[in-house]
Amino acid sequence: MSMDLSVVVPVFNEEDSLAELVRQISVVCEEQKISFEIIFVDDGSTDGSFALLEELHQKDKRIRVIQFRRNFGKAEALSAGFSVVRGDRVLTLDADLQDDPAEIPFLIRVLDEGLDLVSGWKKTRKDPLSKRIPSKIWNFMTSVMTGIKLHDFNCGIKMYRREVVESVHIYGELHRYIPALVSWEGFSVGEMPVNHRPRLFGRSKYGASRFFKGFLDLITIMFLSRYTRRPLHLFGMWGLVFGSIGAVITVTLMVLRIIKTIYLSNRPLLFIGVLFILLGMQFFSIGLLGEMITRSHSKNRNYSIRRFLGE
Ligand code: UDP
Ligand code: MG
Repeated sequence: MSMDLSVVVPVFNEEDSLAELVRQISVVCEEQKISFEIIFVDDGSTDGSFALLEELHQKDKRIRVIQFRRNFGKAEALSAGFSVVRGDRVLTLDADLQDDPAEIPFLIRVLDEGLDLVSGWKKTRKDPLSKRIPSKIWNFMTSVMTGIKLHDFNCGIKMYRREVVESVHIYGELHRYIPALVSWEGFSVGEMPVNHRPRLFGRSKYGASRFFKGFLDLITIMFLSRYTRRPLHLFGMWGLVFGSIGAVITVTLMVLRIIKTIYLSNRPLLFIGVLFILLGMQFFSIGLLGEMITRSHSKNRNYSIRRFLGE
């Protein structure tokens, strides 16, 4: 028998929200006659989240629970949830009640009109200004750099066709770029404004460092999407550019030295310039090569599961 919807919820210390979240999801789905399951992924919570989830699973077998051995991060949690979904469609949702389950039927409708991923757009966002402004800038940059026209890449609420979550591969903090990764695989991606609510319980798990890391991740995915299979096109080109400039400079200085007797010892800037370019190139190439290695290794799972209720 086919199931309409799998809801995947990453959980990191959200004990006060969970029961209410289950209630809200069940109400909406039952009203709309949507058959569903909820997969909670407990990402190493240290509060009572898991005990509560276990209880919820005992009462209602539509609730399945994966428990990680420690905190691996939201991307890993989503990816673990994605690997066990049974529904034709998959919804992701934050556990903190900031996303509104009442959007489920609308998201399904938009998805079924012919998209592979519908991403929520927190048009009026209920978060502090210190979060909203950097997020606007980050979204704008991501949109420009990836060429994908979305307002809100990192919205927690997203509706997918199952094929999409089966093929998207996320780890680290790449969950922020799911729309880009999915679109680069050839799936169609759209967005829909969604209701956003203030956090009532617990604390936000992400501080300002996310934007810095997010920028580095953006470089990673741009690189991976374009150059994984042909890194030499990137490195080789810049190698040639810098190599030739360096050659021109040194040859010129050498000629000047021989013909006009201008001593190289009067050109200290030369050393600094050359040193910095070389260092920069080395750091960068090593960083990107490292990312490639992570990528091929992390085709295997990079999280560790302690228990799975409802396997
Ligand atoms: N989360 C997680 N693992 C982490 C950090 C967060 O599973 O290491 C979950 C968290 O429980 C929540 C969702 O990811 O369900 C989004 O986190 P949060 O609400 O703190 O982010 P914000 O809304 O502040 O961007
Ligand atoms: Mg939140």
